[in-house]
Amino acid sequence: MDKSSKQFLFDLLTTPSPSGFEQKIQRVVKGYVKSFAETVEVDLHGNLIAGINTKAKRRVMLAGHCDQIGFMVKSINKEGYISLAPVGGIDTGVMPAAHITIWTDKGPLKGVVGRKAIHLQSAEERGGGKVDIDKVWVDIGAKNQKEAERQIQIGDPATFELGVTELGNDLVVSPALDDKSGLFVAMECLRLCAKSKLNVALYAVSSVQEEVGLRGAKTAAYSIDPEIGIAIDVTHASDYPGLDPAKVTPCKLGAGPVIMRGPNINPVVESQLVMMAKKNKIKYQLCPYPGILGNDANPIQVSRGGVAAASIGIPNRYMHTQVETCCLKDLEDSAKLLAAFVKSIGPKSDFRPQ
Ligand SMILES: [Zn+2]
Repeated sequence: MDKSSKQFLFDLLTTPSPSGFEQKIQRVVKGYVKSFAETVEVDLHGNLIAGINTKAKRRVMLAGHCDQIGFMVKSINKEGYISLAPVGGIDTGVMPAAHITIWTDKGPLKGVVGRKAIHLQSAEERGGGKVDIDKVWVDIGAKNQKEAERQIQIGDPATFELGVTELGNDLVVSPALDDKSGLFVAMECLRLCAKSKLNVALYAVSSVQEEVGLRGAKTAAYSIDPEIGIAIDVTHASDYPGLDPAKVTPCKLGAGPVIMRGPNINPVVESQLVMMAKKNKIKYQLCPYPGILGNDANPIQVSRGGVAAASIGIPNRYMHTQVETCCLKDLEDSAKLLAAFVKSIGPKSDFRPQ
């Protein structure tokens, strides 16, 4: 991965964006895409929409959601400990002893989730068991409520501590690879297409509020009114211990983008994606999804009179934890595959399934 692309990815991963608090990350996206996008706009909902070849009549939309799961400050008790409300699908089991950052108006404030020492736990507590978020407290080192309230407002957003750890074989670890990896791919595809002659207008959307109900892609698809819409989001890798092989389709990190199949996917777009992967010698994986995807492809497909929807999955281990893991090569290959697909759309391409 080239240096400036990698820097962009790392900037995304270290910028907080709990659903509803996406302004900061949209500024990062804007800073990167403005050098190659023809148009960059933020709509009233907060989606950032970057376009190229925008005079073309036919439109293609790519969506990668910029929001991440996180927290909001719910209350501060007399001793100065903070309670959190979850934003999106938080796995409370990974909260004890986590490092937390509260993003206050005055800047980031560090805290830790406390945990009763093992020596003081009852036999029942030692067994682990369910973590109730209402019983979780964040310690920011404040002496009392007043001191905490001088620094924090009720409703401030918070996240697990952000950062990136690099592992072997091009693997990266970060709390919000879901879906900053997909957002990265959407914008990289736009960059890869920016100097090509296209038969379509291409819009890459940094969509908001996916984690709380697939909301940003809904409003963006309405305003862009695309013929084809592709969501790029993480998908579950199966290459770690504990998963029953009888229950999952194999999916490996580093084995390429995942082309989703099923009722949420337009079969013509899907087969053209497969064709482009083969033609360009990009490794790919297939994933059956017999229902409706829990990502932006869902609202995109049923926008207005219907859209030819598809979804590219980026293999991801440990989803919705602080140690989400992806392979940089899969991100690069996903952007390449999408760029090849967009460039392959001819004046007579017809995506109606028939
Ligand atoms: Zn996601």
